[in-house]
Amino acid sequence: MGNHHCRIADTEFEICGMRQNQAGKLYTHAYGEVIAANIDPIEKKPLYHFLPGTTSFSIATPGCNFHCDFCQNWQISQTSKRKDQRLPGDKLLPEEVVRQAKANGCRSTSYTYTEPTIFFEYAYDISKLGKKEGLFNVFVTNGYMTMEAIETIAPFLDACDVDLKSFREDFYKNICHGHLEAVLESIRCMKRLNIWAELTNLVIPELNDGDDEESTQAYILVPRGV
Ligand code: SF4
Repeated sequence: MGNHHCRIADTEFEICGMRQNQAGKLYTHAYGEVIAANIDPIEKKPLYHFLPGTTSFSIATPGCNFHCDFCQNWQISQTSKRKDQRLPGDKLLPEEVVRQAKANGCRSTSYTYTEPTIFFEYAYDISKLGKKEGLFNVFVTNGYMTMEAIETIAPFLDACDVDLKSFREDFYKNICHGHLEAVLESIRCMKRLNIWAELTNLVIPELNDGDDEESTQAYILVPRGV
């Protein structure tokens, strides 16, 4: 689901530390392992043009496919089954997530705080179920996912906030441990599939606020093939 395309030996883990090769079967340790659950204003995702003034039932499991040096959620994004045999948090089945979202008057479910592609199978099941119950679905994502993942969840995914961390490949490589182009491809894919997408750019003084960031902005805002 993530874009690292990890090749993993038996008993080893993907980069996120939450998917494992168990005798030739890819096993997810993230399913239902909720490490954070909150009722947030949609503007906190942040989405400013999608269901404004509503609340979103916001959940995360441990794990991320990036290792950003500046991550403010590192306690939950950088923990994993590889590091800890016992994951902190509660077991919450998709039916219970949808029930709690509705009971609290939320209009949507957000997959957020860590990286939703790490718990993709879980998010997919909740999204499908929630859609039937009239809930919208939101990914708050670093965008480092495959086209197949986006196309798979597209029928149930209404909106994304993509954290576009920089306009430079060296920033992605050295600070986030990922790659820029895959993130741009995801944004183009969302646009092509009519998924509402808003971009967040966290400005970190002296790291991604130089003049060389600006030169590529036009390229980002008018992406190829859109
Ligand atoms: S992508 Fe987000 S959650 Fe993952 S390490 Fe970077 S800042 Fe943290």
